[in-house]
Amino acid sequence: MTNAVFDLLVVGGGINGAGIAADAAGRGLSVCLVEMGDLASGTSQWSSKLVHGGLRYLEHYEFRLVREALAEREIMLSRAPHIVRPLRFIMPLAPSARSSLKIRAGLFLYDHLARRRRIPRSRPVDLSSDPAGRALSRQFHHGFSYWDCWVDDARLVVLNARLAASLGALIRTRTRLVSFDRGADAWSATVENSGRLDTYRARAIINAAGPWAGEVAALERSNIKSESTNVSLVKGSHIVVPRIAGGDDGYLLQNTDGRVVFVLPFEDAFTLIGTTDVPVDGSPAEAVCTFEEEDYLLAAANRYLATPLTRREIIWRFAGVRPLQTGPVGVEPSSLSRDYQLVQSGSRHGEFMLSVIGGKITTYRALAEAAVRRLEPLFPGLAPNWTAARPLPGGDIPNEDSSLYLEGLARLYAWVPDPVMHALVRRHGTLAREVIGDARRLEDMGRFFAGSLSEREVAYFAENEWAKTPEDVLWRRTKAGLHFASQDARAAASAAIEAQL
Ligand SMILES: Cc1cc2nc3c(=O)[nH]c(=O)nc-3n(C[C@H](O)[C@H](O)[C@H](O)COP(=O)(O)OP(=O)(O)OC[C@H]3O[C@@H](n4cnc5c(N)ncnc54)[C@H](O)[C@@H]3O)c2cc1C
Repeated sequence: MTNAVFDLLVVGGGINGAGIAADAAGRGLSVCLVEMGDLASGTSQWSSKLVHGGLRYLEHYEFRLVREALAEREIMLSRAPHIVRPLRFIMPLAPSARSSLKIRAGLFLYDHLARRRRIPRSRPVDLSSDPAGRALSRQFHHGFSYWDCWVDDARLVVLNARLAASLGALIRTRTRLVSFDRGADAWSATVENSGRLDTYRARAIINAAGPWAGEVAALERSNIKSESTNVSLVKGSHIVVPRIAGGDDGYLLQNTDGRVVFVLPFEDAFTLIGTTDVPVDGSPAEAVCTFEEEDYLLAAANRYLATPLTRREIIWRFAGVRPLQTGPVGVEPSSLSRDYQLVQSGSRHGEFMLSVIGGKITTYRALAEAAVRRLEPLFPGLAPNWTAARPLPGGDIPNEDSSLYLEGLARLYAWVPDPVMHALVRRHGTLAREVIGDARRLEDMGRFFAGSLSEREVAYFAENEWAKTPEDVLWRRTKAGLHFASQDARAAASAAIEAQL
């Protein structure tokens, strides 16, 4: 039993939980976050990795969401220029899809719904002369270009957890909430870590368990009255193939069923294609990308690509599950709102709980702000909003110019090979220097795995970023797992990393 009573217990170490923990800790609340697996081991590592307004949400009149997301895009870019970067999108015009007029109107709104500082505006594009046309079949002559941003989703979660910890929050990974009950003036929460049970007490609980939010709410033993909500779980899958020729832009492709599919440059050497929208009712942890979804994504991409892809080219696939607010019967999952909802139970000391339903990587900061503000009745005089102007760890890059920063660091550490420095700055920003530490020559970085990942960086992840398994390092702190020449090489690296952790 931990004697201390936390102001806030956050359940779930995805982007929303980590963002809420940071926001609350920065306002002076004492915060504990419990995550049953690794940070970002849920939906937050399985997104399309876009910081976007969501052009297609305009069709569903989700102007509030789009405006907020577009504004967040600029804020994210300035808080974390190392892991967020602008990406140009090409939307080819296709016969029997949305009309040019409709797209033009949508893009006009997209350009003007929120202030843009670093993001260029949309334009018509001639695909027979623009380099982006090279990836596409010759029948596509015209289209539009517009800009959104790309983000390393799992690192965004970790950096928020680091920010929270730097402000005093306790971050407990591999710690599952098992049940919680109302005490005299605080919640009493039982958690389990490696078979050991412990009790944490907290004045308020925020349930940020993503697709598990319903399960977590059901762990409450005292039947506090809750606002009602209807939630559906919807799975989205992605496939990864070697980088398609000419595919350095993102593509937004209109499919024949009215949905859109993204084709995105990924990790220098790859292309990411997604996503599907499939209702699910099993455990979110068991969601996989099925053959049908692979075929769907390949067919949608091949309708446009100059060189068609086959199943043989798929080198990785993944699926994530999101909770969405249920609409009227018969509404397609792709039409359900991507906006978030904060569902409150109880209102007094010792029984205040808020459940986060839905949301986007893009809007996590605004969501966290809104969620923590809801605690105001419990903590009168709560400090004002603060996160918009505060860089995430490593994000304090002068003029938000990662390329210039990289050049400077490469000069300073001339002995670090370019691809290694590039990877370090992309993952750590200004903290790259902390990772290099007292190393003076390449040998001081230890052995290297999959090109740019060194033993020294693995140790850094273990010491500073809660990495406990090879998977945490190879698939979430980095995507090094994708870059091995063979399964055997990956297994050997995993064993070496395991021995080090
Ligand atoms: C296919 C797909 C593509 C997407 N693409 C984008 C995109 O491009 N851009 C964008 O902005 N958004 C995107 N999203 C949305 C975005 O990924 C999600 O909104 C976001 O990741 C949800 O984060 P979360 O923190 O709420 O949930 P999660 O990341 O799932 O975190 C919840 C955490 O709670 C933990 N947990 C559960 N039960 C317990 C318990 N009992 N005790 C302790 N911990 C527990 C889980 O392990 C998990 O880590 C996408 C979503 C999907 C499904």
